[in-house]
Amino acid sequence: MSFVEFEDVRKVYRTGEVEVRALDGMSFSIERGELAVIVGPSGAGKTTVLNLLGGMDSCTSGTIRLDGRLVSAMDERALTQYRRHDVGFVFQFYNLVQNLTALENVELASQICRDPLPAADVLAQVGLADRRDNFPAQLSGGEQQRVAIARALAKNPKLLLCDEPTGALDYRTGKQILGLLQTTCRNTGHTVVIVTHNLAFTQIADRVIRVREGRAASVKTNLHPADAQ
Ligand code: ADP
Ligand code: ADP
Repeated sequence: MSFVEFEDVRKVYRTGEVEVRALDGMSFSIERGELAVIVGPSGAGKTTVLNLLGGMDSCTSGTIRLDGRLVSAMDERALTQYRRHDVGFVFQFYNLVQNLTALENVELASQICRDPLPAADVLAQVGLADRRDNFPAQLSGGEQQRVAIARALAKNPKLLLCDEPTGALDYRTGKQILGLLQTTCRNTGHTVVIVTHNLAFTQIADRVIRVREGRAASVKTNLHPADAQ
């Protein structure tokens, strides 16, 4: 069994009489510790995949598993616990609390979960030990995204989900964030899933999931550097 499994997943959005088939029998899997990148044209279903993996929405049919647990069968109550403990989120626009310092933003995440990592340690891990007492407005975009990554990692989640994590950053800063996510994945063993238009991510990914018209068109696996020896 793979760490993440999508099996024949369908998602239909209904608005009045109108039905949109966002996912139309999507299947793919991701192994533990992999960095997976989801790419595809606008409207293909990428955000829907991320929302389902994050427990923010439920699928219409099919099965979704994380680490052997059947996410697709969870009720609202179980999904709330799942979002709180099992997944970390990184967004395009950071979503930091403006009147809390970098350290306090990271601590906030640790407070809601069972098994948090020390906030100061995680901030140091993303290279911001000397910025812990700065407020978001005093940090550059790249630094704010580092705080957001630290906040997500402090929960010690099973899955780190990133939605266009470099979408608001310039090329150089985006590359630094890409490097940070890659290092995090390699050094801490976190499984990372990234939805992105940034093609640089596909070059460092262990797995590229190409989504088209609600299906995963192809899944390509790169060799882990360690396996290539
Ligand atoms: P992507 O992230 O690849 O751009 P999405 O997952 O956002 O694609 O959307 C897939 C399809 O589902 C699109 O046709 C989109 O318009 C539709 N869709 C997404 N969210 C909703 C919603 N809440 N209600 C109705 N249709 C939606
Ligand atoms: P980046 O290339 O990461 O976007 P910037 O060029 O925006 O970085 O910022 C360079 C440096 O200036 C960073 O170390 C950042 O912390 C600092 N900085 C940016 N904006 C502010 C601010 N409003 N107050 C204090 N320091 C700032």
